[in-house]
Amino acid sequence: MAGVYVHIPFCASRCSYCDFFSTLEMKGSGSAYVDAVVAEATMRCHELRGERLRTLYLGGGTPSQLPLPLLERLVKGLKGVLELEHVEEFTVEANPDDVTAEWCAALRPLGVNRVSMGVQSFEDNILRAIGRRHNASQVAQAMGNLHAAGITNVSIDLIYGLPGQTLESWTRTVEQAIALSPQHISAYGLTYEPGTRLWHQRERGEVIEVPEEDCIGMYRVLVRLLQGAGFEHYEISNFALPGYHSRHNSSYWDETPYLGLGAAAHSYDGSIRRSNPCDMHEYISRIASGETACEQEEMTRWERYDERVMLGLRTAAGVDAERLREDFGDAAWTHFSREIQRHLDAGNVRLDGASRYVLTAEGILVSDSVMRDVMWDDD
Ligand code: SF4
Repeated sequence: MAGVYVHIPFCASRCSYCDFFSTLEMKGSGSAYVDAVVAEATMRCHELRGERLRTLYLGGGTPSQLPLPLLERLVKGLKGVLELEHVEEFTVEANPDDVTAEWCAALRPLGVNRVSMGVQSFEDNILRAIGRRHNASQVAQAMGNLHAAGITNVSIDLIYGLPGQTLESWTRTVEQAIALSPQHISAYGLTYEPGTRLWHQRERGEVIEVPEEDCIGMYRVLVRLLQGAGFEHYEISNFALPGYHSRHNSSYWDETPYLGLGAAAHSYDGSIRRSNPCDMHEYISRIASGETACEQEEMTRWERYDERVMLGLRTAAGVDAERLREDFGDAAWTHFSREIQRHLDAGNVRLDGASRYVLTAEGILVSDSVMRDVMWDDD
């Protein structure tokens, strides 16, 4: 099984907190970009080694900014190159203000069966302050349009710890998200990425960071409200109704190979990581000249071990110590067992079955330090 990720780097404007690779140059470059992605798929589909494709994910950037004729050209082009007939989950990311009735109606004929909306907050003043283009009422309208078009698998992204957010306003945001009946919610704590507009605003004292203890309180509210509404907490930042875990994202966590197409996209085939340039023009011109645009790096055994334990601890499935021993040997198993024991004793981790270690609710709050301890340190 494998997945394909396509990066659509176009945004209508830049949000103040965002450091993802994106560009405002849709009008001049959209068409050439789509053609480059299809050409890249043709050049690199062999990297999937005949694995059956199970998921396709258009992320960004803002894929919903792609005009419909270009979206159709992209999907048809990919279908001509990749074997997509067994794809179970085809997700497109969207901004709520792009989710019009016309846009939604085009999705199912293309095979799209899941939409992930960047909502972030239901407080209009906060949305404005961080440079989002939509408001809360557009989210409800978007949800109505998706349901009317038969898209019944919808994910909502939220951010907690935004400047100006309080425990009360965050609680309202989570409640409003639940009231719209999405099947999936992802919620991330705000990080101040160096160089972003928000980072500069904090440097100048124009925004005040939400204290860490308040962010922890927001996370606790999130978990309590979502679990109370029937969502399964299947990854640190991800919650889903039963049967609606993101199959594409789960493949990142369980080491399923994936092919990443487009500027700034990453790929992994089980041992080699590849990454495309974070420059749209460089990407288009390299593909046009017939070369693949990616840099590649073979992961060492211990890098793969680190990835296994870090990603495993993020999920409700945890880390299977016996499988770790089979795949990485006795030294890895001994190191992991010794380091995880301290966190078992402290209540940060619990043992599920004979050998599976899973973070507890309290352990999630100190997950960085648990991960640091179990990672391999060969100094
Ligand atoms: S729309 Fe998404 S990708 Fe674009 S700037 Fe905002 S957060 Fe970043």
